[in-house]
Amino acid sequence: MRPDSPATTFARRHIGPSPREIDAMLATVGATSLEDLIAQTVPGTIRQKSPLAFGEALSETAVIARMREIASKNQVFTSLIGTGYHGTLLPYVIQRNLLENPAWYTAYTPYQPEISQGRLEALLNFQTMICDLTGLDVANASLLDEGTAAAEAMALAQRVAKNPSTSFFIDQDVHPQTLAVIETRAEALGWSTIVGNPATELHAADVFGAIFQYPGSEGAVVDYRDAVAALHTKGAIAVFAADPLALTLLTPPGELGADIAIGSTQRFGVPMGYGGPHAAYMAVKDAHKRSMPGRLVGVSIDAKGNSAYRLALQTREQHIRREKATSNICTAQVLLAVIASMYAVYHGPEGLKWIALEVARKTALLAAGLRKLGFEIGNTSFFDTLSVAVGARQNEIVTRGLAEKLNFRLLDGKLGITLDETTTDSVLEAIWRAFGGNLRVSEVEAPASGLPAALARTSEYLTHPVFHRYRTETELLRYMRKLSDRDLALDRAMIPLGSCTMKLNATAEMMPVTWPEFGSLHPFAPLDQAAGYTEMFEDLKAKLCAVTGYDAVSLQPNSGAQGEYAGLLAIRGYHRSRGDQHRTVCLIPASAHGTNPASAHMVGMEVVVVACDAGGNVDVADLRAKAEQHSAKLAALMVTYPSTHGVFEESIREICEIVHAHGGQVYLDGANLNAQVGISRPGDYGADVSHLNLHKTFCIPHGGGGPGMGPIGVKAHLTPFLPGHPFLDGGQAPVGPVSAAPFGSSSILPISYVYILLMGGEGLQKATEVAILNANYIASRLSDSFPVLYRNHNGRVAHECIVDPRSLKNSSGVTVDDIAKRLIDYGFHAPTMSFPVAGTLMIEPTESEGKGELDRFCDAMIAIRREIAEVEAGKWPIAESPLRFAPHTVHDLVVAEWPRKYSREEGCFPEGTARVDKYWSPVSRIDNVYGDRNLVCSCPPLEEYASASK
Ligand SMILES: *Cc1c(COP(=O)(O)O)cnc(C)c1O
Repeated sequence: MRPDSPATTFARRHIGPSPREIDAMLATVGATSLEDLIAQTVPGTIRQKSPLAFGEALSETAVIARMREIASKNQVFTSLIGTGYHGTLLPYVIQRNLLENPAWYTAYTPYQPEISQGRLEALLNFQTMICDLTGLDVANASLLDEGTAAAEAMALAQRVAKNPSTSFFIDQDVHPQTLAVIETRAEALGWSTIVGNPATELHAADVFGAIFQYPGSEGAVVDYRDAVAALHTKGAIAVFAADPLALTLLTPPGELGADIAIGSTQRFGVPMGYGGPHAAYMAVKDAHKRSMPGRLVGVSIDAKGNSAYRLALQTREQHIRREKATSNICTAQVLLAVIASMYAVYHGPEGLKWIALEVARKTALLAAGLRKLGFEIGNTSFFDTLSVAVGARQNEIVTRGLAEKLNFRLLDGKLGITLDETTTDSVLEAIWRAFGGNLRVSEVEAPASGLPAALARTSEYLTHPVFHRYRTETELLRYMRKLSDRDLALDRAMIPLGSCTMKLNATAEMMPVTWPEFGSLHPFAPLDQAAGYTEMFEDLKAKLCAVTGYDAVSLQPNSGAQGEYAGLLAIRGYHRSRGDQHRTVCLIPASAHGTNPASAHMVGMEVVVVACDAGGNVDVADLRAKAEQHSAKLAALMVTYPSTHGVFEESIREICEIVHAHGGQVYLDGANLNAQVGISRPGDYGADVSHLNLHKTFCIPHGGGGPGMGPIGVKAHLTPFLPGHPFLDGGQAPVGPVSAAPFGSSSILPISYVYILLMGGEGLQKATEVAILNANYIASRLSDSFPVLYRNHNGRVAHECIVDPRSLKNSSGVTVDDIAKRLIDYGFHAPTMSFPVAGTLMIEPTESEGKGELDRFCDAMIAIRREIAEVEAGKWPIAESPLRFAPHTVHDLVVAEWPRKYSREEGCFPEGTARVDKYWSPVSRIDNVYGDRNLVCSCPPLEEYASASK
């Protein structure tokens, strides 16, 4: 293989500044070398002793060859296992132009709605699709997976139910992993679960809610109307876990009386991916919309009165409500929700119904053939799943099935078989052969459908024009292109979001994700079919251990917040194993990310806030006092390091020691690991457990708000308390699963793995050093314009810095919003706003931005400071300044009247911006309050689109 020239090694391509630029930037910040800068930034007491020994970095060609070799060890069988995971056909036009398109996958969560109109529209389509299919009023823009959505539904039911019981009923026919995820959550909150047959074992008076699988996991399609009515008479809540494809044919949950519906949209075009990522959904009755977890896209208006989209209600609810937040969900599954919605746009209601009818027809045909062969089908009603009584013949049939490359679901004395849109006649014939018969499809009588007539769907769905307009490839291609053009993603400009680490997601890293050997595996396929995955997981875990100094890693949590939840469950499990049930206090510094207190609350811990000092550091005296005060009950400290204030505080070792001295465990939020890889290891300086956000430090792209992966690393004593999974341990692990799939969103792990192989240990360390250099460079360049809030005693920041325009509000009236929106006119996504300090901007450039882009950003910030100075000098009031009217749109160029105090040119083309490559925000500044007051969360009627495009 051709070796890389030094100029084209991957690390050189990943790291933005060239060696010459690095020298120039070091001169600006006043350091003699990268090593000198790091020595001034990172406390010597926590520096890692030896460099990461990952061997030679691989070239891109070599790494793809390596991944091909790993992929070839995964065997793609036809999985008929069902349980919420199905074969599906992702339309190629969507695969290439959406899933494989950086304009979609590198976008950030749409907190800046003006530059996110495209994905917000796609998410609104998703919400509309879910409302229509479920027959409920309001749907959110995705949850992590069906299991966690069910657990969230239980928690929502508990919040809104009038019945004061602390028990939740679970239909015995829910998917086994859903059951396990619900039980993990219930146990931690002190709620009990009752598993049984709803017809005979549900006593509505005794529960705050119940969940039913529709159709059931083993296939039956049951009418739960009476159970729902009984729940309602007792003030309890009815939750349906419903298959969206089946809902095209079945009476929707809303019409059966359900209060909440959840489920997975995986089979709408999203590959199984050995467990994920896929978008789960949640829909609720109107009465519960304000209690719903997750993000909700809504329609509002912009400054010109045109309709525009933005996140509604609980946009950053964890940051505001913290431990009182309705859930800890932050990163969700936006990219996958967008794919599922586009699958519905592609097929339309007739297409989806045709697919569902075909699946139902083939299942009926399969049943007829199996009966012909003398087998009894356990469920008389069915959509796509049969449970076939096989008794002692199970092994024999399974073995013959494997020879036909078929995976069945193993049940007690039965086999489960689930069909999907990929099932062909030859698959049906192969199934019959496995069952010992040589039937041809043409020899089997066309049977009646297995769907009960009483549950036939009569209501319409997907009537909105968006699900009818784009039926040709040309039109759909252009629709997706139009939406992505409205958005500002990493493929256009730096996204300097503090704490979010928006770095390069290299193409080579992304390639294996859509290979069938990674995409087409069912998460419960026999382990020997996933040997490639297993090999990659083991090596990835070993490398993450080496990076963090931990002894073991769990790849199960599918977001950072889920990692926090899993880590706290591990701490809780550890304390309980030692008889310390009473250790339930969790100390959390005021600067913590909002998911920290929300996660602590989810495991039944009581949050005690620790103050920060004027320098932004954890106030060690206050920590000591609180640890002493709660000593007997102390469970944990959750601390982010380096802190969200952007500094490596010197006292981190002491902080860990104080907590340990009082019997507590240290949860170190590792979302900021991009400042540490190769330089310091949490496991070495006192932490017991951390989550790592692979979608930050390890290059999984943000996808517009997900997917992500939040694996946790633990010290040896916590290893027994890592999340288990019934598929792997039969439900015997001390701590149950936190995600539906044993290895979370497995199919995106190749991204992080490839990144590590491409960078090698040396490259990873260099990336960290340059991330720190870039942040210090920005701090240096901006400090004359805006105060930099926190620095260490050498004047250094870590990988991010907070600039503070608050004093300018007094002198000019400018708000942090004005600065953020004006940055759009300059072609930038705003930094993180108002977290962790209200009214400030937190800037994280990452190592991937070169000096040119950093300078362009700094120049824009400095120019904005000059515009603020003009307001201060009285040139115009803030309300009439270009800052307040930002962002400017093409409408501003053409409106006849221009009563503003500044010129159109000053508004639209501020200093230093290009005429040719200008990014135009499609809407003016959006009115958030209006949208929350007039909540509309599904696609508005067409007239509104017409008025918006005027
Ligand atoms: C991003 C982040 C989280 C949450 O991660 P998600 O994947 O969005 O759930 C937690 N803590 C910190 C400090 C973060 O930056």
